[in-house]
Amino acid sequence: MGESQAARANREFLIPVADVLGMSVVLSLLLLAGLGQGPVEEFRFDTIHAGGNVYVLLPQDPRQTSKVVVSSGSDGVLLSDTTSGEMAGEVKDAIDRLGGGIIRYIINTHSHSDHTGGNREYTSTARFIAHKNTLRNLVEAGGPVPEPPLRAEALPQLTFTDTLSVFFNGEEIRLIHLPDRHTDGDIAVFFTTSKVIHLGDVMLAAGTLPFTTDVDSLIISLDRLIALLPPDVTVTPGHGPIATMDDLQAFRQVVGETRDFVRSRLAQGQVHADIIAAIPAEWSAWSSRYLSIEDWITEL
Ligand SMILES: [Zn+2]
Repeated sequence: MGESQAARANREFLIPVADVLGMSVVLSLLLLAGLGQGPVEEFRFDTIHAGGNVYVLLPQDPRQTSKVVVSSGSDGVLLSDTTSGEMAGEVKDAIDRLGGGIIRYIINTHSHSDHTGGNREYTSTARFIAHKNTLRNLVEAGGPVPEPPLRAEALPQLTFTDTLSVFFNGEEIRLIHLPDRHTDGDIAVFFTTSKVIHLGDVMLAAGTLPFTTDVDSLIISLDRLIALLPPDVTVTPGHGPIATMDDLQAFRQVVGETRDFVRSRLAQGQVHADIIAAIPAEWSAWSSRYLSIEDWITEL
């Protein structure tokens, strides 16, 4: 089931990259017209104070470019994800508006290049941290978007397999591997005192369905997070607006309920066409530009 999800993911993520590279403006406009969206426009990052030392650079564009999470304080600056390289100027301006400081560490939530493409802009001062599999994925493939490959100095120098704690700007930043299979190297980045968690693409956006090839592992990961996090945590999905614990719990609930819905009907001998015809109306709101409820049900 991963193949078709990956194809859709690539299609989604290719569109903004084609725009920003300026490689294929006509193709981009045709694609956007096909999606019912308007012409390409400039966009900026809004800076949101998420809690404590932590800020979120939230792109104000209709295609929901990935976010950058920033810890800014007396130790300097730490970034979680660097979005696409072409956004680096905007990202740097936003960091400067927060008071600047030396960019010491960069964490990558996973290998996809709409989250890692900006790494190359920070090699003079930063050290890069990611899951061991993310390093392998960056070296082998570079993610679904055809950006220039990362130079060796923009690859993670510090890797781990399960958890890692980084002590920076007066708090423990806990990195937690989530074997959810969006990729095999997804991590959550939990700023424990600021009470902010960056989920990367484990949760693409609040109220949307996931790209995963292993729903059971995703549910285990979500349960682990929900048990760990304070109820007033600020949840930062990889794309889309800032979210809450309620959004995370609703996501967990709908992933679990849809899985159980499909499995129980398959066990009764139904086929996917029957199951899709019986989808409860309340789940239709979970269809998004990323994935429709029908596609999700088909792939479960
Ligand atoms: Zn991704």
